[in-house]
Amino acid sequence: MNIKPEEITSIIKKEIERYEKKIETVDSGTIIQIGDGVSRVYGLDDCMEGEMLEFPNGVYGMALNLEQDNVGCVLLGSEEGIKEGDIVKRTGKVVEVPVGEELIGRVVNSLGTPIDGKGPIKADAMRAIEFPAPGVIDRQSVKEPLQTGIKAIDSMVPIGKGQRELIIGDRQTGKTAITLDAILNQKGKDVVCIYVAIGQKQSTVAHIVNSLEEMGALDYTIVVASTASETAPLQFLAPYAGCSMGEYFMYKGKDVLIIYDDLSKHAVAYRTMSLLLRRPPGREAYPGDVFYIHSRLLERAAKLSEKLGGGSLTALPIIETLAGDVTAYIPTNVISITDGQIFLESELFYSGQRPAINAGISVSRVGGNAQIKAMKQVSGTLRIELAQYRELAAFAQFGSDLDKEAMKRLEKGKRLIEILKQDQYKPMPVEQQIIMLYAGVNNYLMDIEVPKIRKFEREFLDYIDTHYREISREILEKKELTEDIKNKLNKAIAEFKKNFLA
Ligand code: ATP
Ligand code: MG
Repeated sequence: MNIKPEEITSIIKKEIERYEKKIETVDSGTIIQIGDGVSRVYGLDDCMEGEMLEFPNGVYGMALNLEQDNVGCVLLGSEEGIKEGDIVKRTGKVVEVPVGEELIGRVVNSLGTPIDGKGPIKADAMRAIEFPAPGVIDRQSVKEPLQTGIKAIDSMVPIGKGQRELIIGDRQTGKTAITLDAILNQKGKDVVCIYVAIGQKQSTVAHIVNSLEEMGALDYTIVVASTASETAPLQFLAPYAGCSMGEYFMYKGKDVLIIYDDLSKHAVAYRTMSLLLRRPPGREAYPGDVFYIHSRLLERAAKLSEKLGGGSLTALPIIETLAGDVTAYIPTNVISITDGQIFLESELFYSGQRPAINAGISVSRVGGNAQIKAMKQVSGTLRIELAQYRELAAFAQFGSDLDKEAMKRLEKGKRLIEILKQDQYKPMPVEQQIIMLYAGVNNYLMDIEVPKIRKFEREFLDYIDTHYREISREILEKKELTEDIKNKLNKAIAEFKKNFLA
């Protein structure tokens, strides 16, 4: 072979030109232990709390325990095929999820990956799942109502936009049903709804998604689901992910309603995760900061100041109790964080009073300011009258003789209880609620037999709709029951009753 020296130099020159310094500095570590969805990694010196770590096979993990010589982290995927000695890379980012309009109408997991088979989601942006709650200056007080469409709630435990209202009760007492009705009632009201399912059965979640879809409520709802079959860390992340998706809209000036179903299972997932990370167990084996995981989540619900756009995030967390015990650890924690609670009771549920709300101990500490005046006018005495009724009813059980006045109160109470009953998936517009409560509170139903009250309600509201539509319209416009409206209502009731009783 005959190679000329110039050729060699030109080749060498070319090679030198093409050479670029490609030293990638990736912080990486080695797995020293893996199992049960947690891992210890050696050598991640500058790792951040909550940072995403890249494991082999495209699995991600989250760093949680930053210790002197290793980092304890949880895996957000399957640990299959990952072994000790494998390399783990830092990503330099804390865990974040996609947010934006495209998520609406979709079902996603805790990391924002779609699980409804409707194709990929083109997100507007990514947002960290943990975010500091707005401070005092950034907020304004709760002043607009968030109508749930449930008579017993909107009248006695009203919820305002930006409020956190706990729904608490034993299993199978209609907790989820209340929140679904609240979502359903937001139809056409420009409120983005987010339903976060934590640790529930897949079939239950599928049923909920189907119901929402059938009733056209999925068009403005995001479902974030982490079912019981998923690992504890994923269940733990779900509510924060949902909250971030909601915050995105809140900071754009929109109203958001978010449901956390339920935080008892969330606490259990956190306990599992903490025990596996060998954090010290405290009361009921929950780690010491179990209060903080819920408070930092619920504090992110807010009504923002006008300067920040006036958006709101209303949170309805759910807690499941055991045998009505609200004094257990997690229930008391969440009760103290929220602005009020709606207690549901099995006894009421099985006696046919549905929604099974115990009006005596349910409260809303801020929502009253948000109620419209007309509702205040009819619901003012409702609570007291129901309390009196319960007392008298207990008394009457012993067959004691009651005077005429007491009898009357007892009869009225029975009718009010009947009015507050409501079927699932039948949220009622606020003006209709006001009309019905007006009739009940002002003794217009005393001559209707108790079993016929619900039939009366259906037909009377239909009657108003066909013959006196202006009453509903005026209530909504004036937001108060003026003498004029009251007169019209009285007339309508008298007319309708003539036919109904005939
Ligand atoms: P779990 O503890 O299993 O989560 P839950 O407290 O969320 O239960 P739901 O699933 O909402 O309770 O309701 C239990 C059952 O009661 C469901 O079958 C539901 O359809 C029914 N139900 C709930 N509310 C009403 C209502 N207002 N009227 C009639 N049935 C209702
Ligand atoms: Mg439920």
